[in-house]
Amino acid sequence: MSWTEAKEYFTQNDVAILPVGSNEQHGPQNPLGTDHLIAKAIAEETAKRVGVLCLQLIPFGVSSHHKQFWGTIYISPETFKGYVKEVCLSLNYYGIRKIVIVNGHGGNLCALMEMARELREKEVFVSIFQWWSAANKLLPDFFKPEERRHAAAEETSVNLALHPQIVDMNKAVDEEPRKHTVQTEGITLPLDTLDYTNSGVFGKSTTASLEKGKEVFVAVVNELVKHVNLLKRAKIEDLVQRSKV
Ligand SMILES: [Zn+2]
Repeated sequence: MSWTEAKEYFTQNDVAILPVGSNEQHGPQNPLGTDHLIAKAIAEETAKRVGVLCLQLIPFGVSSHHKQFWGTIYISPETFKGYVKEVCLSLNYYGIRKIVIVNGHGGNLCALMEMARELREKEVFVSIFQWWSAANKLLPDFFKPEERRHAAAEETSVNLALHPQIVDMNKAVDEEPRKHTVQTEGITLPLDTLDYTNSGVFGKSTTASLEKGKEVFVAVVNELVKHVNLLKRAKIEDLVQRSKV
């Protein structure tokens, strides 16, 4: 897009899609870029279907918990939140009031939610889409619980569907995550991936299939298309923070 094309878009539209992800280990079979590559593909396909602008991808995210595995490039939650927020505010300067963030990495969610709440006070509405949550609801019986975790069959399947040339199924492994000695019900611990698994895979990845990955991709894009269409029609007054009662 040139600046003149951008002017045309921004004067006629108030919605944009922003894909964000991470660069972190996804087991021996998947690329480090898994989370940002999947987010980019979902965002671009959705944008095409609904006629909405898709921004450039932000590939690095909050993933220090994977750092003991080589090649993980991570940034702090504060830096991530500030960077994404300033991107959103730049869009807002040109009239964008509604921003859909396609988040490819669960570790980004807390920072994104804080940011979305702050922007809502500035009358900018940010919604966050996570494909695995959608897939879990839309296709509940598609994968077993042990196939739905980090770098397991579901995520590997989507990689196989989108970019099979950078997935090596010969290296796929199944690994049952370890339970920490102090873990009991109701406790959340600040552990790293290496505390749970040596391969980086949580659960079962060897059952990944390209066909299943395609079905997941289609289902989650359809769902996101629905959301963006609703958002396009929604009045900004119904989205921004309400005034005092
Ligand atoms: Zn992932």
